[in-house]
Amino acid sequence: MFFIFGMGPKTQVLEKSQFLCPVCRTQSAYELRQQRHYFSLFFIPLIPLSKAKGEFVKCLHCGTEMPSTVLNHAQQD
Ligand SMILES: [Zn+2]
Repeated sequence: MFFIFGMGPKTQVLEKSQFLCPVCRTQSAYELRQQRHYFSLFFIPLIPLSKAKGEFVKCLHCGTEMPSTVLNHAQQD
């Protein structure tokens, strides 16, 4: 579902690295993503409608999305 004018979340990958996933308990790759709502025109996000928030981490091994605070606990090696 696409609109010429639209508002919607856009997910941006901020960082890719490795962590010890607390869900699948595997040293695996993760993506730190941030979601922001944009007003978009012709599919191009133009105006951020909200402050950047909703950072989350996605484990690329099990696919679980979790709050970015898990990284604080994971980097203990
Ligand atoms: Zn995982």
